[in-house]
Amino acid sequence: MSKSDSARRFYRKRVDFFLLLQKIKLWPSRTGVLHGIKSITEKGGYAELTTHCNKVILTRNSKNSRAARWIRNKWIAGSCPACKIPEWKLSKFNSTFFAQHYGSALTNNGSK
Ligand SMILES: [Zn+2]
Repeated sequence: MSKSDSARRFYRKRVDFFLLLQKIKLWPSRTGVLHGIKSITEKGGYAELTTHCNKVILTRNSKNSRAARWIRNKWIAGSCPACKIPEWKLSKFNSTFFAQHYGSALTNNGSK
């Protein structure tokens, strides 16, 4: 970890959605509530997410999906009390930004 860990971080807008989910471990529900992701199982173009409140969500690996857009735009109404997302994770998410031509591309081979 670098010492600028508390600083704002940037990801490319076009990062792989599953890699991003694995990185941030947060899932926005349709009501705008953030859930913590306990596990991700990839199944071809789909992923099965299990949240800490034991919801199972099936999602496509799409940068243009609702959840991907909500994460990028941070359309979040609150966080799930059952998931008990730690404060540091929320503030890390709040200091994460997405840019067109700037930031980590978050690839399997490139990132640590
Ligand atoms: Zn939850």
